[in-house]
Amino acid sequence: MRRGKKRRFGVSIPEDTACRLRELAETLGVDRSTLVTEAVDAYLHEKSHASQPHVCEGVLVVFHPPRVTASIAGVFEDYTDIVVARSHIHSGSTCIEIAYVKGSTETILRLEKDLRRAGAEACKYVASPHTYYDQASLFG
Ligand SMILES: [Zn+2]
Ligand SMILES: [Zn+2]
Repeated sequence: MRRGKKRRFGVSIPEDTACRLRELAETLGVDRSTLVTEAVDAYLHEKSHASQPHVCEGVLVVFHPPRVTASIAGVFEDYTDIVVARSHIHSGSTCIEIAYVKGSTETILRLEKDLRRAGAEACKYVASPHTYYDQASLFG
């Protein structure tokens, strides 16, 4: 995916952070600039996701005990307008619900709150990188 012009600038980071960055870049087979761009994009979005209202899309991963499966499913039924797809996975004594959602951050955050209230042990939202580019225009 092309993102236009790039800019070079000097950043000082601790020696061990630089080593970990180089090692991870080698392990993943990508250059350090790509890795840093990905990390900074994700961090910037994460910091503004809850505070800057925007249309967002991404994957919501929900871990919950089997006993609350019906309640969790019930919450998802209330959000069919933003849930694009979802699937359920059993792993030992844990249930994992994976949903792709697309909608306003207000609605996505409300969905997360309702899921926790319904008995979810953990919710993790990972925004699609497309969201970063669309959102970049908000910050000029
Ligand atoms: Zn977002
Ligand atoms: Zn299950």
